[in-house]
Amino acid sequence: MKRVFEVIIIGGGVVGCAVAREFSKYRITTLLLERESDVAFGTSGSNSGVAHAGFYMPPGTLKARTNIEGHRILPGLCRDLDVPYREIGKLVVAKEEDEIPYLEKLKKQGDENGVRDLRIINDRVMGEIEPNIHGIRALHSPTSAILCPFTLTIALAENALTNGVRFLLNTVVTGIQSNEREFIVRTNRGEFISDFVINSAGLYADKISEMAGISGYRIYPCRGEYHILDRNKSGLIKHLVYPVPPINSGGLGVHLTPTVHGNIMLGPSAEYIEDKDDEGNSADTMDSLYKEAIELLPGIEKRDFIRSFTGIRAKLISSGSEKPADFVIKEEFDGFINLVGIESPGLTSAPAIARMVVDIVKRKRDLEIKSDFNPRRKGIIRFSELPANKQATLIQKNPNYGRVVCRCETITQQEIIDAIDNPLNAISLKSIKNRCRAGMGRCQGGFCGPKIVEIIEEMFSPGVREMTLKGDGSELFTGRVRDAREGMGNER
Ligand SMILES: Cc1cc2nc3c(=O)[nH]c(=O)nc-3n(C[C@H](O)[C@H](O)[C@H](O)COP(=O)(O)OP(=O)(O)OC[C@H]3O[C@@H](n4cnc5c(N)ncnc54)[C@H](O)[C@@H]3O)c2cc1C
Repeated sequence: MKRVFEVIIIGGGVVGCAVAREFSKYRITTLLLERESDVAFGTSGSNSGVAHAGFYMPPGTLKARTNIEGHRILPGLCRDLDVPYREIGKLVVAKEEDEIPYLEKLKKQGDENGVRDLRIINDRVMGEIEPNIHGIRALHSPTSAILCPFTLTIALAENALTNGVRFLLNTVVTGIQSNEREFIVRTNRGEFISDFVINSAGLYADKISEMAGISGYRIYPCRGEYHILDRNKSGLIKHLVYPVPPINSGGLGVHLTPTVHGNIMLGPSAEYIEDKDDEGNSADTMDSLYKEAIELLPGIEKRDFIRSFTGIRAKLISSGSEKPADFVIKEEFDGFINLVGIESPGLTSAPAIARMVVDIVKRKRDLEIKSDFNPRRKGIIRFSELPANKQATLIQKNPNYGRVVCRCETITQQEIIDAIDNPLNAISLKSIKNRCRAGMGRCQGGFCGPKIVEIIEEMFSPGVREMTLKGDGSELFTGRVRDAREGMGNER
């Protein structure tokens, strides 16, 4: 049987989920299809997590417009969705005289875009606000901010779900057929019919376009690798610290990014690759990242690294040009809305892109506002961030808060239970980690991983073969060697 919706969104990254949440404010039936076993498993889960103030993008572009608007929307949105957002400010640092014109260009661009309070500071002022950083001049942007990109994506999805949007995970779109009345979207889980299709498939937006009969887009994957530093280094910097990037580097240069959880990230590299899913890290790249980072911040040592990860930029290059193109946000033909080339600042721009998409639909159809739309979503209690008296009260009410499972991040058993019991029903170690941070510390899940598996078993009794790291193809176990309890019984 074919299931019918008014809107189908393809892709559960931050853009697709922001679009879903925007539609959930109206009476319009909406379905989001995501090929992975959870949202934010694509680029939206692996980036710098910076809410850019808006000075990198040339005035008049969609990138600039949505960046500025998204940066304006994000603080309130994050408050509503219980997503940590911190306005820590940014320094773009010039180390040599010949890099100063770049700072001036950014400031001019930012002023034209309407970014507030940008100023160029000298080495003395820089030394006062960021004593560990080396440079001769810097652009200071006090309104640049940080947020956790996968928490935002999950929160948008959960809020959209609560407000009526349907989510189908593990659902790969394989074909799109359109006739004058409707779209038929083919997937590995059957066919779906809709009036509108929103293509927010990130790296695969070109392929989805082709399925709909639109050729001419080509996404070039550009890999960015990062190191994460242990939290004991969090005091080294207070601001985001960016360099003047090399010309045509494909990114903003290797920067130092404090996270909302108290780590510092170092990266990303920029390397064009063939395979859009190749999230590997290479020793050479990681080494050069380290060398570039210590030029800005000499206090880092390799033993401070606790993990590496990779995010892949979806670069859209227009034919006849070598430079990345602007965002494509448009209705290509009746009802098919394309979001292509949503690379940086796509995280910042997502809420603004979502509003643009809904505005396109509003021009064709009256959308009735839902009187019962609930803009708020409550995340999982972050036990370690509570004052001692609140922690004690919680433990008294629920002893699961008194059992610490992830020792590196101080995550309690109740937080893990809440993460497993999530509204999207996404149950893999990565989904749990993305929701409550269990496994994100120095031991990277070495101690808490087995305990989390035990809790999943107790809650759902799945076979061990069904437990995965991040969905199908990443099974954790091939079978049971022996049952610990049975074994003990036999030995009696
Ligand atoms: C290294 C790096 C650093 C960045 N730093 C920042 C930053 O600091 N600030 C900022 O604003 N932006 C940043 N960005 C950009 C930002 O991360 C992206 O613009 C944003 O995450 C794109 O979101 P998306 O939803 O379009 O794509 P994605 O997150 O990739 O989501 C697309 C989804 O579509 C799904 N999909 C694909 N094909 C199919 C199919 N056939 N069927 C069903 N589902 C499908 C995928 O599984 C995926 O989940 C950075 C990007 C990178 C790579």
